[in-house]
Amino acid sequence: MLAVQKAAPETGFTLAEVPIPSPGAGEVLVEVEACGICGSDVHVYQWTSGYEWMKPLMPVTIGHEFAGRVVETAPGVTSISKGDRVTVWPSMSCGTCQACREGQPEHCERKVTLGLTRNGAFATHVTTPASQCFVLPDNVDFELASLTEPLCVGARAVEIGEVKLGHTVVVLGVGMIGLAIALMARRAGASTVIVVGKDDPVRLDVARSLGFSDTVDLAVSELTNEVQRIVGGKVDRVFEATGVTASIRDGLSVLRRGGVLTVTGIHSKPVEIGLTDLVRNKHQLRGSHGATRATWVTVLKLLAQCGEEFRPLISHRVSLAETVHGFELSIRKQASKVVVMPKLAPANTKDKS
Ligand SMILES: [Zn+2]
Ligand SMILES: [Zn+2]
Repeated sequence: MLAVQKAAPETGFTLAEVPIPSPGAGEVLVEVEACGICGSDVHVYQWTSGYEWMKPLMPVTIGHEFAGRVVETAPGVTSISKGDRVTVWPSMSCGTCQACREGQPEHCERKVTLGLTRNGAFATHVTTPASQCFVLPDNVDFELASLTEPLCVGARAVEIGEVKLGHTVVVLGVGMIGLAIALMARRAGASTVIVVGKDDPVRLDVARSLGFSDTVDLAVSELTNEVQRIVGGKVDRVFEATGVTASIRDGLSVLRRGGVLTVTGIHSKPVEIGLTDLVRNKHQLRGSHGATRATWVTVLKLLAQCGEEFRPLISHRVSLAETVHGFELSIRKQASKVVVMPKLAPANTKDKS
């Protein structure tokens, strides 16, 4: 089968021909129908710092935001059946470390991530433990289901940031996670959600098409002025989803006293912040990463109830052979979510535009 692999610690991916894997004990084989390109995949593609630990694991097939159909189950697997339509929680806990034993598998110290530390889903087939599978509601199609993971990351950040009814919120970043946070903050009851990008017209347009009328382009506007104009002061909550160090200070500058700034970006550089201001302003700085099993259940219910609300996030659908083209679109900020669909013939590749 065709698989998109990280084969060397340098920029780029290799399109490799590899055998279809067999499910091990407790596992199932999934035929991939849709797999989204994630911001973290882009980091791995570009080989920016922060992923050096992948080196001894190469070659590894990338891709963790996916959905597909179960085509084989290992003997003894009863929770999932052949033919089930599933999406998969890519973060796998060990079950034995202290965090796992305390019922917090999301904090597992020996976490394995499908698509980073074990073979992922930019391929026609992928194996996964059956326990990581969630059967899709009937009305959730594969491409919408492939949004589950990033929507969960957004939903979890909003839980960590404790967005409450009536809150004013600034979201820094218009990538998938920024937009997912904005959508989930609105669902959590935020009265105003300001979506901020920088020289990113395509994705700011996607934000507006999702109903966010308060957008700021830092290439032409100044953040504090715009926030002051829109909410008449500072905001209750800030979310950072850029990976750009300057955005932490930008975010703190528009956060009200006692407000919470939640960081979700992967930062390749350290950031310097004035701790005295942090203390005097009683600012809370929090980190959010991944999600919990409960978030997955909630987001799948949401997709079943109002999936169409989320479909505008998908701007491009490409075939497996065109995965690298999809990455280039993401890097050039010409796309919001690019979904790789292995069954799509290259000639059928369609852009929304
Ligand atoms: Zn992801
Ligand atoms: Zn563990």
